[in-house]
Amino acid sequence: MPFADPDLQEPPMTVIDTTTADFAVLAARCDGRVLTPQHPDYDTARGAFNVTVDQRPAAVVFPIHEGDVAAVVAFAAEAGLQVAAQGTGHNAGPLGDLGATILLRTNAMKGVEIDAAQRTVRVGAGVVWEDVIGPAAAAGLATLHGSSPDVGVVGYCLGGGMGWYARKFGLAANHVTAIELVTADGKHLRATHEQEAELFWALRGGGGNFGVVTAIELRLFPVTEVYAGVLFFDASRAAEVLHAWNALLPGLPEEMTSVGRLLQMPPAPDVPLPLRGRSFVVIEAAYLGSRTGGEALLAPLRALGPDVDTFAMLPPEELAELHMDPRDPMPVASAHALLDALPADGIDALLAAAGPDANSPLVSVELRHTGGALARSADHHGARDTLPGSLALFALGVPADPAAGAAVAAGLAAVSAALEPWAVGFYPNFVEQPFATERAFRAETWARLRAVKAARDPEDRFRGNHPAGPQR
Ligand SMILES: Cc1cc2nc3c(=O)[nH]c(=O)nc-3n(C[C@H](O)[C@H](O)[C@H](O)COP(=O)(O)OP(=O)(O)OC[C@H]3O[C@@H](n4cnc5c(N)ncnc54)[C@H](O)[C@@H]3O)c2cc1C
Repeated sequence: MPFADPDLQEPPMTVIDTTTADFAVLAARCDGRVLTPQHPDYDTARGAFNVTVDQRPAAVVFPIHEGDVAAVVAFAAEAGLQVAAQGTGHNAGPLGDLGATILLRTNAMKGVEIDAAQRTVRVGAGVVWEDVIGPAAAAGLATLHGSSPDVGVVGYCLGGGMGWYARKFGLAANHVTAIELVTADGKHLRATHEQEAELFWALRGGGGNFGVVTAIELRLFPVTEVYAGVLFFDASRAAEVLHAWNALLPGLPEEMTSVGRLLQMPPAPDVPLPLRGRSFVVIEAAYLGSRTGGEALLAPLRALGPDVDTFAMLPPEELAELHMDPRDPMPVASAHALLDALPADGIDALLAAAGPDANSPLVSVELRHTGGALARSADHHGARDTLPGSLALFALGVPADPAAGAAVAAGLAAVSAALEPWAVGFYPNFVEQPFATERAFRAETWARLRAVKAARDPEDRFRGNHPAGPQR
């Protein structure tokens, strides 16, 4: 049980308030908790990050080691159920009806083991990025985490993983060195470039469709300081700022990954006073280089006179907060597309849909600069080899009630329609609704993923958020 943190272990489950005898059988085989809909903790246990997602699985299981995971998979096979693994529920939206599915929440499968000499880290399935970033930094190393500190390492990496160093180092999935998982036949395997190579390829981008991951190993990078920060301008300056940023992109080195963003800060008490309740156009960036180098790259934007400028040399752990992602569960509706480089017309189209005069209800509309290493194919990469295009759009609103929901849906549709002429694909980690997964892959990659699914999970036991096989 290498990843069973004793502090997190619950006592062996003896009291299961369930009327379903079958789940009592499962509970007797598991050290972790098994909660059916009758259990008072079921509603808390089934919660997703996006509170509009009302997942109601047949049962929720909290395994504490791989033996529990194997027990769940075997039980699901006996009972004709599916298994959906979930770390944090950050991408629960696409999963759909879970009435015949056991939701396997990996929260208790913690454990972070850093090998500083090899520059690798091995983490349990329930580890989130903030569990790794600090210990890695203490060893003088950085991880390829994304914008949110509490996204799960496993879910992020299985979908691709695009973070602040993405243009330099590429997707996190392509720096995974080993994945341990329980497969449909109940075996606990280790997949690497050398062992189970085809399964290893499929997992790195093909998501949770091939088994339940119990641990993952990743490369770390010798980064101890980054020039990074945020420029805040009043939203009324969106056109000049976004045009200036967009014009800079072709000349930026891969060492810089940046984001251009329209942001409406909520009037919430945890938002700092100068920003609270205000609308901004924001440029965020991280540069793997010196302060003087970073300053030179950003000089044309600084010359526009931001209201707030937070750029400084930062330790890598501070990058996890740069994007100001929310931590608490909240209602979310979002839209996404990968885009080709935008001409000035494209920026104008975005501003017409979501700029300061559009009366848009969207809280955040961001364009992440991609390209660089994200666009370079390599033989050792997994199924998520590259991301097409030069930009990743992610727009979100808060559908707090039905009226807000309708307004947010219209706002998202307006942004999507405005940028549709430049859309070139999808990045599954940014897709938060059910969609046809093949739209995110090249035809030959999709055929290969389907073949691995058919060979390794012919009964479609594993329900990934973005399915690679028939969903029952
Ligand atoms: C606030 C926020 C910020 C984000 N920022 C970024 C970012 O900067 N870059 C980026 O690339 N993405 C980002 N994402 C997207 C994120 O990477 C995906 O939502 C990812 O799927 C989340 O993984 P999770 O484990 O936290 O979520 P979950 O919903 O728990 O898992 C998502 C899926 O991963 C699979 N999975 C999870 N654990 C296992 C397991 N143990 N075994 C098998 N399959 C498993 C399952 O298919 C599951 O449905 C962000 C999302 C949010 C909500």
